[in-house]
Amino acid sequence: MNLKDYIDIIEDFPTEGISFKDITKLAANNEAFDYTIEELKKELEKEEIEYIIGPEARGFLFGSAVAYAMGVGFIPVRKEGKLPGEVISYTYKKEYGEDRLEIKKNAFKEGAKVAIVDDLLATGGTVKAATDLLKSMGADVRALAFVIELTELGGRELNKDVDIISLVKYP
Ligand code: 5GP
Repeated sequence: MNLKDYIDIIEDFPTEGISFKDITKLAANNEAFDYTIEELKKELEKEEIEYIIGPEARGFLFGSAVAYAMGVGFIPVRKEGKLPGEVISYTYKKEYGEDRLEIKKNAFKEGAKVAIVDDLLATGGTVKAATDLLKSMGADVRALAFVIELTELGGRELNKDVDIISLVKYP
């Protein structure tokens, strides 16, 4: 199956100059979605993963499905102020200003083997921040898995210490 047939490219979204890869059609097509989840699962099963971590928001969509398929737990990483109760926060620099990610305190035991699943790897800043947050809590981050990789934005280099899996690549 060619997953690119299910990815629409929307020019100038969300801002001018951005060529946005839209996964709406892929998620709506049950064969394409099933194929995507099975391929990510196949790659991640090489590691002994205990939890899939999904960054808000499209990481919830793909991450929870992969976790269910693999029979492991799913843990969300959210933007600031969305999670109830005690959280661990991580502030990181973006191109303009700062952003903050949060995860529930005691979401997993120290040493837990985890993989992060998201829809797309671009500059790698989001997944790097999520990795740093997880490592600060003692997680063993085994792999980073994406449906789409934008190969010219440096995400792989920024995250070179961790195994990176991606199903389709765009220049
Ligand atoms: P990065 O932090 O690697 O620069 O950006 C990746 C994050 O931004 C991911 O969480 C992803 O959901 C979102 N993102 C950035 N560009 C796109 C895009 O073209 N398509 C989609 N679907 N998500 C994007």
